[in-house]
Formats: sequence, structure tokens, C-alpha cells
Amino acid sequence: VTGPATVDLLVVGAGPGGTAAAIAAARAGLTVAVHDKARFPRDKICGDGLTTGALRLLEDLGLDPRFLQGWAPVLETVLVSPKGRHLVLPHPRDGVFAGVVPRAVLDGALVARARDAGARVEEGSALVQLDADEGGATARFDDGAVVRAPWVIAADGTYSATRRLLDPAAGPAKGDMHAFRQYFEGWNDDRLWVLFERDLLPGYAWVFPVGDGGANVGFGVHRSEGVPTRYLAQLWDDVLARPAMRAVLRDAQPAGRRQAWPIPASLGPLTSGRVLFVGDAAAAADPLTGEGIGQALWTGIAAVDAVQAGGDGRAVRARYETDVERGLAVDLRFARQLLGVFGRPRGCELSMRVIDASPWTRSRFARWMFEDYPRALLKTPGRWHRGAMSSPGAFARV
Ligand SMILES: Cc1cc2nc3c(=O)[nH]c(=O)nc-3n(C[C@H](O)[C@H](O)[C@H](O)COP(=O)(O)OP(=O)(O)OC[C@H]3O[C@@H](n4cnc5c(N)ncnc54)[C@H](O)[C@@H]3O)c2cc1C
Repeated sequence: VTGPATVDLLVVGAGPGGTAAAIAAARAGLTVAVHDKARFPRDKICGDGLTTGALRLLEDLGLDPRFLQGWAPVLETVLVSPKGRHLVLPHPRDGVFAGVVPRAVLDGALVARARDAGARVEEGSALVQLDADEGGATARFDDGAVVRAPWVIAADGTYSATRRLLDPAAGPAKGDMHAFRQYFEGWNDDRLWVLFERDLLPGYAWVFPVGDGGANVGFGVHRSEGVPTRYLAQLWDDVLARPAMRAVLRDAQPAGRRQAWPIPASLGPLTSGRVLFVGDAAAAADPLTGEGIGQALWTGIAAVDAVQAGGDGRAVRARYETDVERGLAVDLRFARQLLGVFGRPRGCELSMRVIDASPWTRSRFARWMFEDYPRALLKTPGRWHRGAMSSPGAFARV
């Protein structure tokens, strides 16, 4: 009988959170095993949009999405107010500030990058049992693999199996938004469109370009606003037929099924014994925009930093929780506060008028919206550094 494979770090889930952790850990010289129940390339229901923050982290991790199939660079974003006002936000040109790449492609490339960095990635291997103790955890997978590690990073998404195995009473990560997505084809536009429809606020509808005349179309609504699930599918047909949406989509035709998935944005719990939760498993998405790729990459790297810093279990957990509080939680709370402003039609119209006041306000807002600098930077002067609000985008040197 062979014993469990022993590694320094076990990562459950190979989406952006898990692969970022795997790359960071392998680079730091740790032995890493990553297990994902899916086989790659696999789709993830998503808007596929990459913020400046996400792009900078991909650059740090050694992945340049500009060379991936389906990449669409975004040089301009158009916001449409509930009353139909158009607000055009040009992105700075010194580096990449926003872009779109299908998750089937991005996540496959991240898995390949993790393997190149030295991580062992097992596909088609779902976590089914987790026995955690003071010194680590032993995990069993449905392909028969058994892995023992002093630390586990749970990057297994909204319905985190790791969380359910540790606490059978735990529900899925709390979803603020519930979102629909459908791919379209025959769309010849390279701008990113965000449509604020009165009844979707503080949620919104989007049309994002993907390479070769494709579009990623969807909408997200806040569950707390009391929209029952069964109405969402009807709402989707309705949103697609609205004049504001028709004007953007023009002759584009659906190229795939419409699919729905929650966006968990209520951050935490972050730790449990020898397990650190990252990305959607930690409900780390932005409650205002619903973006979670950058947050998944960021928490994945932060979790590895905490493991690397060493110390006993309590020290590692405390380090991770402190880092997330300082580097992310403060921004997510600020984003949540803004829901009260953007969430009302009047607040939304008024904000758009203020943002539209000058080229300066438009460019500042675009940088803020795309996470060029931390959301709540002005509230936390301790994080300020020279050039914080005017630094180049990602891949500016390449
Ligand atoms: C409709 C929609 C639109 C969105 N649009 C955007 C956007 O435009 N930009 C943006 O930044 N974010 C967007 N998001 C949020 C973003 O998709 C998520 O925040 C992001 O995917 C989180 O990454 P993750 O690595 O934490 O989890 P995931 O990407 O969900 O990866 C989790 C992985 O865990 C694996 N797994 C699950 N269970 C097990 C198990 N038992 N054993 C092993 N593996 C397991 C899964 O197969 C999966 O590969 C959107 C979300 C939705 C729903």
C-alpha cells in the first residue's frame, strides 16, 4: 500500500485563484499539487473582462494574454445611463488598461503556465474527502489520488467543495449578484459597453468584445434587491430586446447558450485550520462591478505569501487575514458603499454627469473603474505611492 503523496502545498481548483497560487508557490521553491475536477480547456461563465489590476498580476505571473486566441484589447469603454446618456471613457495608451479573453482560453493558459513553473496539475480530479488536523490535511480525490500537505489553498469557486467538506452546514459562498452570459457572433465593435438599465440597478448589462467579431453579452442583478431566480430568465429575453441593447448589438446573433452563475462578493471566511480560501471560494469579487478574476489572482498570491512567511498555523492565518484586510477588504467595503449611489437611477444619472465633466474626470474614472489603483486609495493614504494614479498600464515595457 503506498501512502499519500506529500507536498508543501495542495491547491484545490485550477481557475485564476488556484493557478496564481500554484505559480507563486512553485516559483518560491515549494512542491505544489493542484487538483481540478474539470479537464482543460474548460469554460467558466464569466464576462471575460480583465481589469488593469488583473492584467498587472498576469504580467507578474508571466502570462501575456495579448497572445491568446480570442484576445480583444479595449481602448474605449462606453457607459449608457438609465436615461440613455452615453459616456465615452478612453483608456490611457501607455500600456494595457483593459482587455477581454474567453475564460476557456485564459484558464487553459494559466494551467499551462503553472505546469511550466513546476506545479503538478491533475485534471479530472475532484476533491471528495478532507481530513484536516493541527499539522496539515489529507485530501482524497475521485480519481483515487491521496495528497497530504501542511497547507491547503481552497480555490474551488463559489460552490467550494473544500468549504462544504469542512463544514457540511455551509452553503455556497454568498452571492450578491446573479449573472447571465451568452456569446454572440457578427459583432464588429471593439468597445466595451456597460448599460445601466433602471430596473437592473445597481446591477447592469454588458456587451464586451471578444476576438474575431464575437461578443460576450450578459447582465448581473443584485439578489438583495429581491429579484427571484425564475424571473431572471425572462428578464434576460426582455433585456436583449430593449432599444438600448438592440442599438449596441445591431445584427449580432447568439452563438451559444445563455447560462447563469452567482458572483460571490461578501468576502470571507478566509481561513479554517490549515485551509486558506481564495477567489470565489472566499467570496472575494467586487460587489459593485462583479469583477473577480483580479481578486482571485491577488488572493491566490497573498495566500502563498502567508504560507511562505512561515510560523505556526495561527501566524500564517493571521498574516493572510491581515494582508487581505489591508490590500483588498478595504476596497471591497468602499465599493459596497457606492452601491447606494449607483444603485438609484438619480444617483446613477448624477454620477455620470459628474464623471462626464471633463477629459480629466473621464480618464480618472476609467482608471478607478478598471482597478488601476486600489478602489479606496484616497481613503487609505498609507497605501499611496508616487505615481499611484498615473502609472502606466500592464505590459508597458514589452
Ligand atoms: C456571469 C459572470 C460574469 C463575470 N464577469 C467577470 C468579468 O468580466 N471580469 C472579472 O474579473 N470577473 C467576472 N466574473 C467573476 C469571475 O468569473 C470569478 O470571480 C472568477 O472566476 C473567480 O476565480 P476562481 O479561481 O476563484 O474560481 P473559478 O474560476 O470558479 O475556478 C474554480 C475551479 O475549481 C474547480 N473545482 C470546483 N469544485 C472542485 C472540486 N470538488 N475538486 C477540484 N476542483 C474543483 C472548478 O472546476 C474550477 O476550475 C463574472 C462572474 C459571472 C458569474
